[in-house]
Amino acid sequence: MAKEYHYDLVVVGGGPAGSSAAYAAVKNGSKVALIEKESSIAETVRTSGVTWIQNIKEFGIPDDCFNPIKKFSFCSPNNEVTIRDTIPRAAVLDVRKTYRWLAEEAKQSGADIFTKMNIKEVIKNQNGDIVGVKGIGEEGEAVFHSKIIIDASGFQSTVSKAMGLVSQWNRFGAGAEYEMKVENTEEDTWWLMVGQEYSPAGYAWIFPLGNNIVRIGVGVGKPESNVDPTVRLKEIIEKKLGPIKKLGKLTEMEFHYGLIPNDGLSRKTVFNNLILVGDSAGQANPLVLEGIRYAIKFGRVAGKVASQAIKTGKTDKDALYPYEENWRKEIESKINSAGKVQDRWIGLSDEEWDKELDIINELKPEEFIDFIKADFGLSNMIKLATHHPKLAVRQLFSLVKGKK
Ligand SMILES: Cc1cc2nc3c(=O)[nH]c(=O)nc-3n(C[C@H](O)[C@H](O)[C@H](O)COP(=O)(O)OP(=O)(O)OC[C@H]3O[C@@H](n4cnc5c(N)ncnc54)[C@H](O)[C@@H]3O)c2cc1C
Repeated sequence: MAKEYHYDLVVVGGGPAGSSAAYAAVKNGSKVALIEKESSIAETVRTSGVTWIQNIKEFGIPDDCFNPIKKFSFCSPNNEVTIRDTIPRAAVLDVRKTYRWLAEEAKQSGADIFTKMNIKEVIKNQNGDIVGVKGIGEEGEAVFHSKIIIDASGFQSTVSKAMGLVSQWNRFGAGAEYEMKVENTEEDTWWLMVGQEYSPAGYAWIFPLGNNIVRIGVGVGKPESNVDPTVRLKEIIEKKLGPIKKLGKLTEMEFHYGLIPNDGLSRKTVFNNLILVGDSAGQANPLVLEGIRYAIKFGRVAGKVASQAIKTGKTDKDALYPYEENWRKEIESKINSAGKVQDRWIGLSDEEWDKELDIINELKPEEFIDFIKADFGLSNMIKLATHHPKLAVRQLFSLVKGKK
């Protein structure tokens, strides 16, 4: 017989969005289950883990979870530029350590964590609203009854799909990377490599983690290109293309593969008794396809709003709407602007990339960081679009703020 559980809130997915939601909800007084299908949190790594120091500090992520970055190097077929900052503003996360720290925060605050529990089905009431989920665990079937469910299952959006509320993402990024021990590396420098040979619709990267370990990867936009990122990654490593050559002898440690939505903010994220957050909500910056900081930030908002709703006894979509209102206000216009830059980048030829790097090189470090983070404050954008001494930069920022 299936084992039955009763919770205020069930969070499906123990990634950064799920752990953060569970943490915020349990802190606010809810009885919370956090459910993960793998045998431990972050058993499989599906991300390169670049994020920003400002967000790391805001979330309280410990210092031993990341490697700081202050030089940003780009290479295209015939150009190479480096933006040098005076202080580190970016970082490469130890993904496993960070995600486990996030889950531990939830657990220490009182959330029950179920691992090896694969959620397969939803339970609906007579109105068709979700009131629980069913999964298969080590001891067989389990049923979780809950006032609110948070779908933090990532790209697959298991719960929302089972409810029939969403279908597969049309546009997404596929990425493959090796974590490798290398002979030589500049530990404070990331590399983004652009042009057809690296990726016909995307880019390749080298992200250092410290201790002569780097992540070398390739991301490819779908459906724009049918190139397999794993095949392309092996090719560029084999050829020792561009800055890969400088790394010297490479020793493979771990392989990572993942998919990230790139459909813009197209989904509704609140329904009766249900919230979507993180990748299941499509919350990703399209410029470099990063979503970890949004997953944590809006995971916390989702958890807080859900637990408030539980306290009031009203858990329908209107009661949960403050969550959607919060994240839309914070990122919707920025993500839309970033989408315009991504559309421009996806169409660039090798020669155009060579020139684009010259434009990027004109940016001051703080302008570059705001740009790549899609942190487009309107007044700043207008300033750059109107007053920057270089015409090409003015044109780029005019695009961002919507002028032709
Ligand atoms: C190749 C690649 C590189 C990336 N690089 C970066 C980067 O450098 N920086 C950045 O910020 N972002 C990056 N991202 C994006 C980032 O990984 C995601 O935005 C982020 O992980 C979203 O977090 P999440 O919690 O929503 O989903 P996830 O991290 O995907 O977590 C979802 C969790 O749910 C679990 N789950 C799924 N289905 C079920 C089920 N049925 N039952 C129980 N559990 C389930 C999964 O096992 C997983 O643990 C990258 C993505 C890819 C694919």
